[in-house]
Amino acid sequence: MTKSRGHVIVVGAGIAGLSTAWALIRRGFRVSVFEQGPIPNPRASSYDEHRITRHAYGTLEGYGHLMPRAFRMYERLFQDIGARHFLPGSLFYFLRDPVDWYEPVARTMTALGKRFHEVPLADVPERFPMIETKGLTQVVETEEAGMLFPIRILTDLTVWLGNAGVAFHADARVEAVDPEAGTVVANGETHRADRVVIAAGAWVNKLTPLVADSVVPSRQAVMYLTPPAELVDAWKNAPVMIDLGTESGTYSLPPKNGTRLKIGDHVFTRAGDADGDRIATAADLARLNRAARLAYRDFDRYRVIERKICFYTVTRDPSEEFQVRPWGSRAWVLSACSGHGFKLGPLMGEGVAAAIAGEASDEATTKWAAGRMSPEEAAAMEHAG
Ligand SMILES: Cc1cc2nc3c(=O)[nH]c(=O)nc-3n(C[C@H](O)[C@H](O)[C@H](O)COP(=O)(O)OP(=O)(O)OC[C@H]3O[C@@H](n4cnc5c(N)ncnc54)[C@H](O)[C@@H]3O)c2cc1C
Repeated sequence: MTKSRGHVIVVGAGIAGLSTAWALIRRGFRVSVFEQGPIPNPRASSYDEHRITRHAYGTLEGYGHLMPRAFRMYERLFQDIGARHFLPGSLFYFLRDPVDWYEPVARTMTALGKRFHEVPLADVPERFPMIETKGLTQVVETEEAGMLFPIRILTDLTVWLGNAGVAFHADARVEAVDPEAGTVVANGETHRADRVVIAAGAWVNKLTPLVADSVVPSRQAVMYLTPPAELVDAWKNAPVMIDLGTESGTYSLPPKNGTRLKIGDHVFTRAGDADGDRIATAADLARLNRAARLAYRDFDRYRVIERKICFYTVTRDPSEEFQVRPWGSRAWVLSACSGHGFKLGPLMGEGVAAAIAGEASDEATTKWAAGRMSPEEAAAMEHAG
């Protein structure tokens, strides 16, 4: 039997926490995961039918350069869990206003050797009959993107981790963390470890003041829909699509591999409490409906199957940087910020595990996770783990 390199408590069983556990187990650590609900928890940001992954990263070019490795981490994870919960494909962007998007994407995709090209506007009505053409200025196809299937990933990863010896504590809400002692209190009991990783998603500010200045929960509405009959086939064959405009701003995931058509809002509310109600009101849905009418033809003829409230954790400023920082001498905080937490989850978990294992310095890990390293510096962070 291999000797454990130490015991780590992970708080939170979303993609960040489970990925960190996965990277730690592979390095020979003993891991305990505390989750306030069931595992996986339907109230987690990570719990959904699909998530987008891509190389085209808009103005966040630092993250664009991390994406090839993020894709590789997922392939490694799929190998371990024995299922590839991923549907590769192109991602199409529909631009309606002068948004700062094309130049940085062209630069990053070219540097990464990934293909992208413009779609003639005249082709849109036939290729994308669901798209509203009014106001369209540019359509761009970016390759090497696709859909991840999170519920399946979380479930299989939980099984894999359980089989690998991770001690799961479900329905165990951590009430307090002592970052110097390495203890957590849950259900009235104190548990001790060599290190504690807080991966508590939209609840992070309830457990630590460390990132309260930079991170805020964001209540978001999404809708699952059935399209009008004449658009059913077009949606079945559709790619992932993102509409970028000042008034519009939505993303859509087509119904593939047993999932439903989903449309979500690209604008963050930066408001709400993840412990609060999850009932989508007319007010929650107002902006999404307005934006969707600008992006999709005949949107009022779609039938709503479910209106869902979920939470992102986002930065208070527009930087959208992951907050990955040591807290005290024994704790780490791992907080995804914005809409890229799922696609980068396994890579960020790997980064935190590498820092705990002493493979990278704390400062370098924080800078790397924030997407603030040059491509050369980031490449040097590829750890053996
Ligand atoms: C609608 C929507 C669409 C998105 N689209 C994309 C996308 O297309 N691509 C992409 O990459 N990302 C996307 N994201 C972002 C991504 O889903 C999140 O960034 C990511 O899932 C966050 O993972 P996490 O593990 O940090 O948080 P979570 O998944 O929320 O996990 C945190 C866990 O910690 C638990 N917890 C909290 N506090 C405690 C406590 N005190 N004790 C015990 N347990 C606790 C929670 O119950 C939860 O299970 C989207 C998010 C949303 C909401």
